[in-house]
Parts: sequence; structure tokens; C-alpha cells
Amino acid sequence: MDNPSSMSTTADASCLFVTLGCAKNEVDTDRMRALLLGDGLSEAHEVDAADVIIVNTCSFLASATSESIETTLELAEEVAHGVRSRPIIMCGCVPSRYGDELAHELPEVAAFVRADEEDGIVDVVRRVLGSGGAPAARPAGRMLRTIEGASAYVKISDGCDRFCTFCAIPHIRGRYSSRPASEILDEVRGLVAGGVREIVLIGQDTGVWGHDLEGAPCLADLLRMVAEVVRPCRGWVRVLYLQPEGMTDELIATIRDVDEVLPYIDIPIQHCSERVLGRMGRSGSAAELRTLFARLREEIPGMVLRTTGMAGFPGETDDEADELADFLAEQEFDYLSVFAYSPEEGTRAAAMDGQVDERTKLERTQRLVDVSEQTGFSATARHVGERTKVIIDGVEEGEWGRELVGHAWFQAPDCDGAVHLEQGEASVGDIVTCDLVDSFCYELSGVMVSKEG
Ligand code: SF4
Repeated sequence: MDNPSSMSTTADASCLFVTLGCAKNEVDTDRMRALLLGDGLSEAHEVDAADVIIVNTCSFLASATSESIETTLELAEEVAHGVRSRPIIMCGCVPSRYGDELAHELPEVAAFVRADEEDGIVDVVRRVLGSGGAPAARPAGRMLRTIEGASAYVKISDGCDRFCTFCAIPHIRGRYSSRPASEILDEVRGLVAGGVREIVLIGQDTGVWGHDLEGAPCLADLLRMVAEVVRPCRGWVRVLYLQPEGMTDELIATIRDVDEVLPYIDIPIQHCSERVLGRMGRSGSAAELRTLFARLREEIPGMVLRTTGMAGFPGETDDEADELADFLAEQEFDYLSVFAYSPEEGTRAAAMDGQVDERTKLERTQRLVDVSEQTGFSATARHVGERTKVIIDGVEEGEWGRELVGHAWFQAPDCDGAVHLEQGEASVGDIVTCDLVDSFCYELSGVMVSKEG
């Protein structure tokens, strides 16, 4: 190993960031990156060029935990065969979930940083590099970010109070905690000043944002405040991960009436059978969900709906699996993500009787995937012929040469497909108007009509 005492500050060092899991984790990595770059560290893009490696892990499902650990071990292997040694720091959900057990299981890792300790990453990096120096300044409540691209995910809360019986998130991330509006707005202002045109608000359960803050502001209040910040640059605001109970009259009216707030509603229902939902620790029934979606479609004409369905929850009968598949087909969601139930350590569902065998789970999952493709591809094709606005995300070499790639208001970035424009000049972050002329699966092609800049 290098002589660590040769480094006096992290300014001499470079760091490779590896992120696993969802958009929320990308946001956390961004924050750590900004803190470390602010301390003088530079970013490396390969193991050999790095002095320290930070792996931000996911532990939402057992498969995600395995992937996180395998990735860490592969990196350790690469380091072992490299020209010199460098420490690996494991951050995020896996350390949050497994705590002290890990030090014994993973001696390859120099330090573990739980999700709620990530603001102290500068001190940890200094320590593993032996840099010492003055303690790093805390971000004083501000979530710093590095900016890439025209859209940015902004976390408005952490943790969750719902304790669905299949979900490890409350055990990993703790109780629900809203970020104060002032902190979120500061971050949004910084992003907009840096050229971001679309703000995507995320959290485990965005609909209850604010209930634990002074004065108990609500999500509708926050959306209106964020809309004001993006209005001068004609930007967009999107919100993800709403629970059915979170769809209040005020929120529906805000999504309908505030131009900058996109009529894109993401409500992960998981199931529709009242009995299965009850066993999941969730409320509702197919009848209640039908009423909710009919109301949303009536009150917000033309809106786009995304949901999530889970196949093979313990005790799910063949009839209940049919009920879910039929419900999802009938509702014709624009976007549907499908998961096979996986028993997560420490959750109540993992200890339930009636665990569904893997083969049945796979068959039921495949059936839901078929439904998602039928309804999703048709929903995408229905946009052909529309004139719509698209945010440009990049320039790519496509099958037919250079093309601009962006996403329309009805596509969440990095999530729901893209719009490809073969002709026209525009830069990342420009909003262009285009005619949609064709579709393939979740992808659309279009012709640029004008550019707003
Ligand atoms: S609401 Fe979502 S994050 Fe919270 S416990 Fe349920 S599934 Fe997990």
C-alpha cells in the first residue's frame, strides 16, 4: 500500500464513485461527490487512476444486496491485481442494514458509511487516506450537488413510516423525515442556475411530505414553490412515488392547474386484491383503486399514469394473481414496473406462511410483464401524431447517424423511454417542440419544429 502519511489533504487524491440501485442513490452519490470535490479531491473514472473507491450500495431487495457485495468484491479483486493498493469505502443501504456485521464479513472494505452518515464522507476519506487535517466543514443543512444533464432528481424526504410487510426500506432508512422546504428550494435554485430544466421530486412516500415539519406544509405547497423557481426558465416539475392515500384534492388541483407541474402521476399500487393488500400491510381494494384512477383521469384530462405491480406475494392465490393481471390490463397504465416478490431478511412477509414457489412466481411475473408491454407500447404509440415539447438530454450516434435524444413531458428521465430526433440543432437542456412520427416499444421518433432554447 502507498505510504498514507505522504498525503496531507484529499486535494492530492482522486476518487472513483460506483453507484448501485435507484435514482435516490444517485442523488446521494452526487451529494458525496460534491462534498469531496469541494474538499479538493478529483474524480477518477477507473480503478487504476483512483486513490480511493466509494461504492454506494443498494439493499432494497436481496438481489440488490448481493449485487452490491459482488460489485465491491470485484473491485477489491481488481485493486488486488492493480499496480498499488487503494481503500474501498462502502456507503448507503447495505451498511445501514447490516451495520457492524459487515466489518467481519468484508475485510476488503476500509470503512462503512451508513446512509445517515454520508454527510461526513470527507472525514472518512481523509481518515482512510491518512490525510488528517482539519475536520471537514459540514454542509450546513444544504444538499450540494454536481450537475449533469438537463434533469435532476431531488430528494425531498428519507425513510418511511408505512412498514409494508414486504419492504426493508423502513428498517434500512429509518422513520420518515422530510427535508425542510427552504433546503429543497435552495438546492432547486442551484440546479436551475446550473442549467437544469426539469426537477424530479423523489422520496419513499412523497405524498406525506411536510407532515413532520413545523406548520405541516403539504406536497401541494412544495410543488407550487418549486414551480415558481423553474417558471422563469420555462422548466418542469415532476413528482414520483405517491401512495394512493396521498392523492388529496389539493394535490390533484395543483397538478391540474399549475403549468410547470407535469400531469404525470406515479402511484405504485403493488396489488389490487383487498386480502393481499391487507397482508402487505397496505389498505385499499380494486374498487377503491378503480374509483381513484377514474377520478384522476376525469379531473386531469390527458395525464399519464405509472404504477408498480408485485407478483407472488406470500399467500397470493391463482385467483388473486388473475385479479391483479386483469386489473392492470383493464387500467391500461402508461408505464408499469413489475417485481417478483422476494423475501427480505427482517420483514414480516418473509416469515409468513404460503410462500409462493419460484416457478409460479416467475410465471405470474411474466404474465404481468406481458401486460406491461401490451399497455405500455400501446400508450407510447398513442402519442404518435402529437406535437409535444422535449427536453434534450444528449447527442448520440444512432443506427442512422447522429441524432438528438431527449424526453417528453410524459417520460420520466432515465425511466420511461426517449424521443429521438434525427435532424435539427440543439444543445443539452434546450426545450424543443417536435412532431412525434413513429414509435417502437417505449421509444418515439420525432421531427423538430422549433427550439425554445
Ligand atoms: S410505502 Fe414504499 S418504502 Fe414505504 S414501506 Fe411501503 S413499499 Fe416500503
